[in-house]
Amino acid sequence: DTIGVNLDRAVAAWPDREALVDVPSGRRWTYAQFAAAVDELAYALLASGVAKGDRVGVWAVNCPEWVLVQYATARIGAVMVNINPAYRTHELEYVLNQAGVSLLFASLSHKTSDYRAMVEEVRGRCPGLRETVYIGDPSWDALIARGTPAPFPELSCDDPINIQYTSGTTGFPKGATLSHHNILNNGYFVGELIAYGEQDRVCIPVPFYHCFGMVMGNLAATSHGACIVIPAPSFDPKATLEAVQQERCTSLYGVPTMFIAELNLPDFAAYDLSTLRTGIMAGSPCPVEVMKRVVAEMHMEEVSICYGMTETSPVSLQTRMDDDLEHRTGTVGRVLPHIEVKIVDPATGVTVPRGTSGELCTRGYSVMLGYWDEPEKTAEAIDRGRWMHTGDLAMMREDGYVEIVGRIKDMIIRGGENIYPREIEEFLYAHPKIADVQVVGVPHERYGEEVLACVIPRDPADPLTLDELRAFCDGQLAHYKIPSRLTILDAFPMTVSGKVRKVELRRRYATD
Ligand code: ATP
Ligand code: MG
Repeated sequence: DTIGVNLDRAVAAWPDREALVDVPSGRRWTYAQFAAAVDELAYALLASGVAKGDRVGVWAVNCPEWVLVQYATARIGAVMVNINPAYRTHELEYVLNQAGVSLLFASLSHKTSDYRAMVEEVRGRCPGLRETVYIGDPSWDALIARGTPAPFPELSCDDPINIQYTSGTTGFPKGATLSHHNILNNGYFVGELIAYGEQDRVCIPVPFYHCFGMVMGNLAATSHGACIVIPAPSFDPKATLEAVQQERCTSLYGVPTMFIAELNLPDFAAYDLSTLRTGIMAGSPCPVEVMKRVVAEMHMEEVSICYGMTETSPVSLQTRMDDDLEHRTGTVGRVLPHIEVKIVDPATGVTVPRGTSGELCTRGYSVMLGYWDEPEKTAEAIDRGRWMHTGDLAMMREDGYVEIVGRIKDMIIRGGENIYPREIEEFLYAHPKIADVQVVGVPHERYGEEVLACVIPRDPADPLTLDELRAFCDGQLAHYKIPSRLTILDAFPMTVSGKVRKVELRRRYATD
C-alpha cells in the first residue's frame, strides 16, 4: 500500500475512533475527520503547484499540523523533508538548498526560537524556496482556502516520499531518502509486535521530525487504528505524564533519558499511569534500574525495546511483549519479520559466529533508497549486496537476540585495550550519588585515550568525587576501565531526538 491507501483503509474500518488528539490545544480528530483534514491540505498543496516528487519541508515542533503535513504530502507523492526544530539558520539554509525545498511549513515560534525570523533571514539565500506557510497563522488558512477537490496523482509504493535527516549524534546529519514501502511497512510491523489495535492510545513525546515519532509513532498507530496523543510541542516530563493520565494512554514512547526525567519528577507518584500497558524505548541503551521502574511503577509490562536507524526506516530489531527483564535490558530483541541481519568482522566483512561481536549489518524492505543527492555516502553505507552497514558493534546470542555493544565511533582504546563505554555506564548507574552518567574516551599522551566519566549528580550540593568513584569501581572493574577523570555536569549535550552527543563531550574535554 501507499500511505494514502492505508489511511483510507483505516477510515473505512474505524471512522469514528479518535485518530489524533492535541492535549495543549484540546483539539481532536476522529479517523473520518482526520482523513478529511488530510485531503483538504492535499488539495491545497496541489492548488499551490506542488507536484509529485517536489520537496515540501516541515520545520516545526510537535503539533497536529505536523501530522497533517505528513499524510497530505504522502497522499500526493510529494517528498516531505523533516527539518530538526533545533536547527538554526546555517543548518536550515543547508537543508533547504540540499534537498531543494520549494514549499516550507514552519512553526511561528517556540520557547526562545523565533522560526519566522530565522526563515526570513535565510530566504534570500534559498532560491528554490517559493513559499513559507506558518502553522497557526493566517498563511495556513490562506493555503487551505486555495484548495478544491481534484484527483490525486498515480503513486507507486517505491516512490520516495520522505527525506529524514539522521540525528547528527556522530557528525553532520545525512538525509535518508525513504519510500512508502520502507516506512509504512516498518511502522506497521513495529505496531503489530506490540499488538496495537483501535483501543490503543499512544502518547508521543518524542519529536515528529525524527523517525521515532513519525514512523514508530504516527504510522504504527494509524496503520492499526490507534490514536496519536500529542502531550506538548517539545519534551516536557510533567506534560507527558499529565497527558497519559488525562487521555488514558495505553502506550508511551521515549528514549531512556526521557523516562529517567519522568521517573525523577518530585510528584511522580501522584500521576495515575495505570492505563499504560506498553510503549517503546529506543535510541540508546536503557539502564537496568530504569527498565525495572518503567515496568513496575509505570505499569508498562509489555514495553518494547527497538533498535534501528533512520536509514533503515528505522527499526530492524525489537523485543517481544513477553520477553523477560534480562532480554529487555541486555538485548535489543530479535530481527523483525522480512528483515535480515548479520554481524561481520569490520576488517574482513566475514560473518562472525554467534557470541562474537562485530559490525551489525541489515538488509530488507527497510533499507533506504539512499542518501539524498549524496551517492558516495550511500555507497559507503550500503554495499553491493544491499546490506546496510550500521556502524554499531553488536553480538548475536545463541537464541537470536542481539546485544548492542556500542558504536564503533564511541569505542575507547586505552593502551591497546578496547573499552565499551556502556559497560562502565551500567556499572556506575548503581552508585547512589549518580543520577545519570556518560563515559567517553579523551586523548592521553601515554595510553592514546583515557576514560572520562561525565556525571549528573543526584544532589548537586553533594556531588561525587573522583576518589569515591574510583573506590566504588575498585575490585569490581578491570583497572584499565576505571575512569581516571571525572567531570560533574548538570546536563548533557543532546540531540533533539534525545541522544547524548558523545562527540561533543569528547570535544569539550579533549584538553585540560
Ligand atoms: P548520526 O548518524 O547522524 O550520527 P544517529 O546515528 O544517532 O546520528 P539515528 O538514525 O537517529 O541517528 O540513530 C541510529 C543509531 O542510534 C543507531 O545506529 C544506534 O547507534 C543507536 N540506537 C538506536 N536504537 C538503539 C538501542 N535500542 N540501543 C542502543 N543504541 C541504539
Ligand atoms: Mg547514524
